[in-house]
Amino acid sequence: MTQTEGAVAAAGWDYSPAPERTRPDIESEYGLFIDGEFRKSRSGKVFDTINPATGERLARIAQADEADVDAAMAAARSAGPKWARMKGRERGKYLFRLARRIQECSRELAVLETMDGGKPIKESRDVDLPLVAQHFFYHAGWADKLQWAFAGRPVRPRGVCGQIIPWNFPLLMAAWKLAPALACGNTVVLKPAETTPLTALHLARLMQEIDLPPGVVNIVTGFGETGRLVATHSAVRKVAFTGSTGVGRTLMQETAGREIPLTLELGGKSPNIVFADAAIDQAIEGVVGGIWFNQGHVCCAGSRLFVEESILETFVSALRDRMKQLRVGDPLDKNTDIGAINSEGQLERIRSLVRTGQEEGAILHDVQAEPLPKKGCWFPPCFFTGVQPSHTVAREEIFGPVLSVMSFRTPEEAIRRANATPYGLAAGIWTDKGSKIFEIASRMDAGIVWCNSYNQFDAAAPFGGVKESGFGREGGLHGLRAYVR
Ligand code: NAP
Ligand code: MG
Repeated sequence: MTQTEGAVAAAGWDYSPAPERTRPDIESEYGLFIDGEFRKSRSGKVFDTINPATGERLARIAQADEADVDAAMAAARSAGPKWARMKGRERGKYLFRLARRIQECSRELAVLETMDGGKPIKESRDVDLPLVAQHFFYHAGWADKLQWAFAGRPVRPRGVCGQIIPWNFPLLMAAWKLAPALACGNTVVLKPAETTPLTALHLARLMQEIDLPPGVVNIVTGFGETGRLVATHSAVRKVAFTGSTGVGRTLMQETAGREIPLTLELGGKSPNIVFADAAIDQAIEGVVGGIWFNQGHVCCAGSRLFVEESILETFVSALRDRMKQLRVGDPLDKNTDIGAINSEGQLERIRSLVRTGQEEGAILHDVQAEPLPKKGCWFPPCFFTGVQPSHTVAREEIFGPVLSVMSFRTPEEAIRRANATPYGLAAGIWTDKGSKIFEIASRMDAGIVWCNSYNQFDAAAPFGGVKESGFGREGGLHGLRAYVR
């Protein structure tokens, strides 16, 4: 009996287990992807990537150091001129081919993503992978139309792009970075996150299969120094980073003084505002999806909920009932809503912020019926009420399944409190009144505002933040701009 099956039996639930049967073929060791081939790191050093749902090692991964990053940069630089000169429609064909191979292998890639990162299979299968393929298809379409994207201006690629991505949407973030860079004729050195390198490396295999010219994409894995080495390398002509605000700040300092355009997609503490006139059941689903999607490992998670005071009690009670139905457990079970926390480190960070929330006087609501699995990294979905604006849980990004609920009396107060944060990535507004939507959306300090919905993504829609959530946009026409001169 698996842990989830045991938990289900113990709770007397009537769901049958629905385990995902596909097993991707995982090698015991992966090299760096440089100049079209997998190579060992020069130092021979490796690190483990583990499955956070079981604690077991999935594979050994090469640790890139300075010599390896140099080799990857040299490969990207020498592949650059030919790739840049290639007709847009030819470059587009490579991207179309890659998109189709991703679709063909999407089940294996989804399972791999779930095993390496801990997210539920229904999310990696139904959200991540379709969006990954969509990003390559969408940008394949731009490759031969750049003269219309920037009408009247000849566009040229920038050259070698250094791209650094986090662990919460490993393959999707790789797609957001790679697809526009390649469509515009750049070459790339990509650095995946330490805990989730596998899907990027399997994407590299697909690049070999479609005969992408060697050196156009190079993938260097590693932790600690590797990201910094990529971002600060002298061959790099553009740096794109998604990750924490702290590292984003360091990168700004490190690229200052060099004429290197930088785009930063950083953290958030996004508000979700529910008015008394909203469709309550829909709003509950939106709030649940806003914070408990991907265990709350979402940069734009709606982690601060503002509810109009007149419906606060009803809303919180409905939210508690809905939360009880969420199934936490084996990410490879198709019924699972909430999977494993990505790493021990992240789990500890969530625990410590929740402890601080309780010490500061906020009230924790944790009503999971299901016992958490014994092995692996788990945190139950929960929320705080009695939250003051000064509380840590109202200010700091938790990056876990923890929601802070607050109330407001007037639209002005909602706007003021929603904007009272150094971040500005996303916001949600729930109301029946169109005029209220337009007025409030226009006054949100946020790069993205969702109205009567949350966490909707599309390759054609630019994504990015304001204030300390970063600058630059990814996706859509706006996202191409960073990759051309
Ligand atoms: P992180 O610690 O900033 O790491 C992100 C990436 O940067 C990793 O590949 C990391 O490598 C690398 N890195 C670490 N230190 C570096 C340095 N000094 N120079 C260059 N690269 C360095 O963030 P994370 O914990 O992985 O991701 C969570 C954060 O990302 C959250 O704050 C979240 O809000 C944000 N995020 C934002 C968006 C968005 O679109 N705005 C999307 C997703 C996530 P290692 O893995 O080896 O440490
Ligand atoms: Mg892992």
